[in-house]
Amino acid sequence: MSNFSCPVDSTEAEIITLAHGSGGKLTSRLIETLLLPALGNSKLDPLEDGAVLENMDQSIVMSSDSFVVSPLFFPGGDIGELAVCGTVNDLVMMGATPKYLSLSFILEEGLAISELKAIIQSIAAAAEKAEVNIVCGDTKVVERGKGDKVFVNTTGVGFRAKESVIGVAGIQAGDALLISGDIGRHGLSIMMAREEFALDGLEFEEPLQSDVDCLLSRVRALQEQSVDIHCMRDLTRGGLGTAAYELAGSSGLEFVLEENSVPIKNSVKALSQVLGLDPLFIANEGCFLLVVPSSEVDLSLQILNRFSEGQWARQIGFVESIGSGVATVKNRYGVKRRLDLPLGEQLPRIC
Ligand code: MG
Repeated sequence: MSNFSCPVDSTEAEIITLAHGSGGKLTSRLIETLLLPALGNSKLDPLEDGAVLENMDQSIVMSSDSFVVSPLFFPGGDIGELAVCGTVNDLVMMGATPKYLSLSFILEEGLAISELKAIIQSIAAAAEKAEVNIVCGDTKVVERGKGDKVFVNTTGVGFRAKESVIGVAGIQAGDALLISGDIGRHGLSIMMAREEFALDGLEFEEPLQSDVDCLLSRVRALQEQSVDIHCMRDLTRGGLGTAAYELAGSSGLEFVLEENSVPIKNSVKALSQVLGLDPLFIANEGCFLLVVPSSEVDLSLQILNRFSEGQWARQIGFVESIGSGVATVKNRYGVKRRLDLPLGEQLPRIC
């Protein structure tokens, strides 16, 4: 008997090959065995060139983000959860209800299929929590050494009321600045997960984990209680410091952060001191700055504190009544310093 075998069969069960990105049989097998079972829905299943989306006379909000985090799996999350939360949270910050997501992979030849499968499971779980459907996507494979295992791009579409002005335009002098939780955990947990930062002998009361999370439920709770939200910003790359700097600049108003009020866990304080990092500029993936009129502070904090992730929510500053377009930090003695951006990223590839 002849002994013919398919040249790709021996490896297809374990690792990604260039053929998985060819558009041929292996591509469709990838879609049918891995992607559709986890992510399928009525819009994605027909596998057409595009998805037809409906909205009901509302504004369409769209946002896109690419994810190149390294390592792919880190304490508290992975690139899959990050790729859903990152884009969904940007929609939520605009006051939109997220609805649809595109999902595109750039895979490196040799990636273990088991790793891809774990990432897809995370995507499915995060998408369910965020109440979004993945409605279209793409997979490309590049040669070994030409990528780094997995890059992901997601684009999100959400809807919001036509009259909503949540955003920079909504910020007013005298507004209060609230934060939804403690800062600095995402960036540092990525750092700790990287071998080059292995710090032997450092022990913490509680394990340091990324805060990666979908912000939908917390923001929805604020909206359901009719909190007058002026602006929201998730404190991702660049952290709280960058958000305050940018919002001050684009609103032309002065953002004052009260250093002592900014919630930072002891482990984050200690580790950033050791590494010489400023927690204000460390990335978060489940934390946001909320700008509301001062009359809405108590209600907003009451609502945020109800969530397990909202225990550390508090007011951390205010928008000064005289505009200057800069952000300042007031220390415990009441001395103000101007907040400036660091020259470069403190840590690359954290999202
Ligand atoms: Mg954002």
